[in-house]
Amino acid sequence: MASLSPVLKQATPVVVDHAFGSWIFGTDGEQYLDFTTGIGVTSTGHCHPKVVAAAREQVGKIIHAQYTTVMHKPLLELTEKLGEVLPAGLDSVFYANSGSEAVEAAIRLARMATGRPNIVVFQGGFHGRTVAAASLTTAGTKFSAGFAPLMAGVHMSAFPHAYRYGMDEASAVAFALRELDYLLKTRTAPEDTAAFLIEPALGDGGYIPTPPAFMDGLRDRADRHGIKLIFDEVQAGVGRTGKFWGHQHSHAAPDIIITAKGIASGFPISAIAASTETMSKAWPGSQGGTYGGNAVSAAAGVATLEVIEEEGLVENARLRGNQMLAGLKEIQTRFPTIGNVRGIGLMAGIEFTAPDGTADAATAGAVQQATVEQRLLTLTCGPEGNVVRLIPALIVTEAEIATGLERFEAAVSAVLG
Ligand code: PMP
Repeated sequence: MASLSPVLKQATPVVVDHAFGSWIFGTDGEQYLDFTTGIGVTSTGHCHPKVVAAAREQVGKIIHAQYTTVMHKPLLELTEKLGEVLPAGLDSVFYANSGSEAVEAAIRLARMATGRPNIVVFQGGFHGRTVAAASLTTAGTKFSAGFAPLMAGVHMSAFPHAYRYGMDEASAVAFALRELDYLLKTRTAPEDTAAFLIEPALGDGGYIPTPPAFMDGLRDRADRHGIKLIFDEVQAGVGRTGKFWGHQHSHAAPDIIITAKGIASGFPISAIAASTETMSKAWPGSQGGTYGGNAVSAAAGVATLEVIEEEGLVENARLRGNQMLAGLKEIQTRFPTIGNVRGIGLMAGIEFTAPDGTADAATAGAVQQATVEQRLLTLTCGPEGNVVRLIPALIVTEAEIATGLERFEAAVSAVLG
């Protein structure tokens, strides 16, 4: 008799029977409002009819074509559709299966394209769980402790975390850019630095929007030193922040972009895009994989991008995100130990603190559990585990956000009284 490994840390006891839109129907007969979306994946909601139809149709045509053996239509179509939304000049796309794999592909490309070894990451970033991706992750030691040695050549610089530093945003940005300049003078010389890797909004590291001025400052330094700027849009991309890409809140454009999660509504596929010139610096065969760019996932990806466009889901994310953030800030006024509420689009983080202002992971964990009691599914995040994050689907309605806010407040009340 086998059972699942205890290494899986279960956030809820829910066993799903089926799901639709923003709702999960448990085998316990309960109906849960899903503000986790498989960690920001089911962008068009669970089982969107158009995505289901596209996947069903593709399954009957070819499931696995192996893109280095025979090319298939869905991947060509997905590449064409992605071309409509990718930043200007990023006209060459490589596909993998997961966010971590795409992060690795981006790092490999940056090293090959520059001939330089080092990567600079920013404190609190989450980039995945494979050894290379974990080496780039600074969202908590649980992601890397115990299996050293990690990949060499990774240097961490400060993230402009205004709330944590007790600074206003402009001062936090100025501080973090000074730290980066200092790092380039003291630890990794520009001529040894291949890339800056950053999320446009920290995901697992605490749901903190990256200040646009910081993104712009990175672009400026990348241009000055010939360093590739890589945006990890795995969690913040595909409409989630109320723009198609999270970085579009700033003026900065990436040299390499990474996408996964929401791109195919739950089917595994990821991609990186760069200019053909940059992509050509990696020789044919240096990147690849058996399952990358799967035909059913690609078909679901095409349907996902169509649904996002047809149903105006980027704008919906912006509007419903504003509603969610305003509601959460209102709730915060009734609970003094909610230290900080922040968000961008449909990414919101609620930080729980002790009366002395220090992180209170126990309360965040208790609130997250209490939301399940209220039939609202949420997750925690942040290096100190004291942030509850809300990640509704991009199709979420005004009424569903209102219900979610009511259930969230009931859960906070149940814990904090
Ligand atoms: N980058 C970011 C920003 C992510 O949020 C994640 C997943 N949480 C990853 C990379 C890794 O993706 P995956 O779990 O698909 O490997």
